[in-house]
Amino acid sequence: MEVLRIENLRAYYVTSLYGVERRVRAVDNVNLEVLENEILGIAGESGCGKSTLLKTMIGLIKPPLTVLDGKILYKFNGEEIDIISKKDEITSLKWKVFSYVPQGSMSVLNPTRKIIKTFEDLLKVHLKIEDKGEIRKISEEHLKALGLPSEVLNSYPHQLSGGMRQRVTIALSTILKPKVIIADEATTALDVVVQRGVIQLLKKIQSEFKNSIVIVTHDMGVHANIADRIVIMYAGKILEIGSARDIFKNPLHPYTKYLIESLPKIGDKSLRKSVPGAPPSLLNPPKGCRFHPRCNMAMEICKKEVPALVDVKNGHKVACFLHSKEAEIHE
Ligand code: SF4
Ligand code: MG
Repeated sequence: MEVLRIENLRAYYVTSLYGVERRVRAVDNVNLEVLENEILGIAGESGCGKSTLLKTMIGLIKPPLTVLDGKILYKFNGEEIDIISKKDEITSLKWKVFSYVPQGSMSVLNPTRKIIKTFEDLLKVHLKIEDKGEIRKISEEHLKALGLPSEVLNSYPHQLSGGMRQRVTIALSTILKPKVIIADEATTALDVVVQRGVIQLLKKIQSEFKNSIVIVTHDMGVHANIADRIVIMYAGKILEIGSARDIFKNPLHPYTKYLIESLPKIGDKSLRKSVPGAPPSLLNPPKGCRFHPRCNMAMEICKKEVPALVDVKNGHKVACFLHSKEAEIHE
């Protein structure tokens, strides 16, 4: 069962200078489901559109970001709610149905207020609880359930380490038990040991609350540690989706193969291969398969047609003419 479905999503940055329109095609015809009870990893180099995709999932769509087409459907109370056409619903869905863990905790935690105040604000608005004692009790219990010390509630954000601040941000985003937690580079600025702690925390949340987590990071090592399924994005499009096992053991797309080969392996000191060339500009992406200028397997068709994302085996999907001749109808 899916909790969130994205259909034919096109989200561009549209600007205009001296009457000339510029369109940065950050998310270009993306289809994706988030399943119940899974950790879904979204991977890809920086500038591939993964953060933009995430922004649209949480309804953070402000100009110049413009949704030209598509739906973002959350399952809620037996209904499907499209947050693109029903923007007013976003406030009622946020925190309860989906929540967001940003890259830097300081954008959520107010530096001039103790942590408990931020918990109070959230619970007052969404649970309509006014009693401070009750708010503290709920907050403490939630922190305890996540294995975090409840004393943090009395601290100011700057009194905590970066790792603890990130964990508190995660606690805050999960206190209303949202069905989908969406995390953007939640581990990126942290050192390896702290990173491991944050990954453990996300796993614990998922196994305890049986919700879904979408984790966006360029770091394939993090995906290897946490994701059940992995989505590979490139130049605004999804190139491959599969179980973590399929992606790491049997990658099908030439780009995914490069990403996996470029990962450092224990005990292997040889230089890792990196993807040749540079990612294209999303202002004017290559025609046909967007990866073709960097692909050593490119054929004539790859320069003209856009390969469709096709299920080749048990949910393992790939958009590459080596695996299916099916093309996207509209580019
Ligand atoms: Fe390479 Fe063609 Fe496959 Fe694109 S569609 S990845 S260019 S083989
Ligand atoms: Mg990003």
